[in-house]
Formats: sequence, C-alpha cells, structure tokens
Amino acid sequence: ATPTAVMVATGVGASNGVLIKGGDALERAQKVMYVIFDKTGTLTEGKATVTTAKVFNEMPRGDFLKLVASAETSSEHPLAKAILEYARHFHFLDKPSAVVDATCRKESVISGWLYDVDDFSVLPGRGVQCFIHGKKVLVGNRKLMAESGIVIPDNVENFVVALEESAITGILVGYNTELIGVIGVADPLKREAAVVVKGLEKMGVTPVMVTGDNWRTAKAVAKEVGIQDVRAEVMPAGKAEVVRLFQKDGSIVAMVGDGINDSPALAAADVGMAIGAGTDIAIEAADYVLMRNNLEAVIMAIDLSRKTFARIR
Ligand code: ADP
Ligand code: MG
Repeated sequence: ATPTAVMVATGVGASNGVLIKGGDALERAQKVMYVIFDKTGTLTEGKATVTTAKVFNEMPRGDFLKLVASAETSSEHPLAKAILEYARHFHFLDKPSAVVDATCRKESVISGWLYDVDDFSVLPGRGVQCFIHGKKVLVGNRKLMAESGIVIPDNVENFVVALEESAITGILVGYNTELIGVIGVADPLKREAAVVVKGLEKMGVTPVMVTGDNWRTAKAVAKEVGIQDVRAEVMPAGKAEVVRLFQKDGSIVAMVGDGINDSPALAAADVGMAIGAGTDIAIEAADYVLMRNNLEAVIMAIDLSRKTFARIR
C-alpha cells in the first residue's frame, strides 16, 4: 500500500472511533488469526452489579455490607465499585432522600459512614486485604482464602458454585480466620459481543477468552458469547504468556483488553487493542484504541487492514 493509502485508512479508522498508532500496526492487523479477549470490561460492560449478598454467620446484614465496603473502598476494581454502590444504597435506604442525594453527591462524605481501615493492600488477581478494628478482613476469590488458611465450608462452596454456573462471580469474605459471607456480582455482556464473535469466525479468525475470574463463571460467560477457547484463573502476568502461546507457531495474535492487568498482554500481542474507556496504562501499551467502547471496532480494524493491503490483481 502507498503512504497515501495508509493515511486514508488511518483517517477512516479515526472517523469510526478507531485510533491506529502507525502504519505497522495497520499492516499487521490483516494477518490476525486469533483475537484474545479479556472478559471483564472488554467482553462484558464492566459495570458489575451485586445480585446477592449472603451472610453465613450471625453478623447483621448492614454490618456485613459495611465491613466489605470498607475493605474495598480504596480498590479501583469494577467488582469493588459494585460492592460499594450496593452497600451505600443499603446503608442510606432508610434515610430521607435529601440526605442520600447530598451524601452521594459528595465523594468526600460518602466514605464517612465506613469503618476505619488499616494496612490495606491489593492482591492482584485475588482481591483485597486489610484490618478493621484489629481484625483481618479478606475480600476476594478462593485463592485468596486458601493463601490465608481460611477454610470454605461445604454449604458456602455449594452456594458459590450455584452462582458461578449462572455466570455470576462469587466474592468470598473472610473475617478473623472465618469465612463469613459471599457476594454475587453479575457483569452483563456487551450487547454486540456475540455478533462480533460470530463475525470474526466468518472472517476465519478464532476468538479466545482470557480472564482472572474462576473457571466456572468464565465457561458460563464464554458459552453465552459463543467462544469455545477459554483460559481462566489467569494471573495478570499470565495473560501475556497466553498471547505468546498462540504466537508460538508463527500465528499473528490480537489482544483486546481494558485493564492494568491486560497491559503486558497488549504489549506482547502483534496487535494490541485497548478499550478507550479503559485504563491509561492499557491504552499506552496498545497499537489500536477503540474509542467507542464497542467491539464491532475489532472487526472494522481487521477489515480496514485487509482492504488497505489487499494486493491489486
Ligand atoms: P479479570 O481478568 O477478569 O479482569 P482480575 O485479574 O482483575 O480479573 O481478578 C481476578 C479475580 O480476582 C476476580 O474475578 C475476583 O474473584 C478477584 N478479585 C480481584 N480484585 C478484587 C477485588 N477488588 N475485590 C474482590 N475480588 C477481587
Ligand atoms: Mg478487564
């Protein structure tokens, strides 16, 4: 293709909300054989909502939610945001609406109702940990509980399995060596996700899903969207490994992601595509930025490259 054709294609991309960082990236996209999608925030809306909150000991529901929200208050994770919103609604539900409005408007006041938190830390791919009133609070997945020696009783495990089988992520809450509750969080698929997956297959491109979430939820989501090849319970560093695995036989691989934990994979991919609404670090690591938060742009990008570099016969 001539420099003019590349310039035209870059312009066409831009006017369709696809920013292309250079002619090399534009050229590589035509040969993509695999598109690896991150799950949370990429295939899904990333606007998680709490569907259930179950306490397994005698702690009052309000106190339980306040405890979990306090532990998550410094986390940037979409799951944390969902929990905070749910807990905040529960807490302010019986207050006059003027109070709720005023409180919800001022971020600084919002945290006023939460417990004081000590020694907060984020454990990537697992959850968060802190101390509240001298007691250790853990919010996250099975791995997090196992690492801290918290046993998951059978009735809790059964409850979580049932959530996961219906595409919901079960978040476990450990308090002072005991598993005290579970919060179920649903994150709906983007409305165009299934169509885009089908479209890629029609183009001869194989879609793959990679996620840090558990296998059961991941498989349920993959089934919904129509992706056969799933890699779940992948730690942040492991996502780049998955990309390299698909590249091994010389295949050209695209990665689509939105999070900090996707940036090594976006950099490792032949074609990194970041969701424009995602993290700055992901956007920096990518070759393409999808400004409209719509996955149809993935198809458009490959199509544009194919058309621009198609040999004139
Ligand atoms: P993804 O690859 O889907 O974006 P992450 O690597 O961010 O997922 O997280 C993997 C899993 O770790 C989540 O599904 C969740 O179970 C747990 N987790 C991570 N961060 C948090 C958090 N702030 N609160 C609760 N659980 C979390
Ligand atoms: Mg994500």
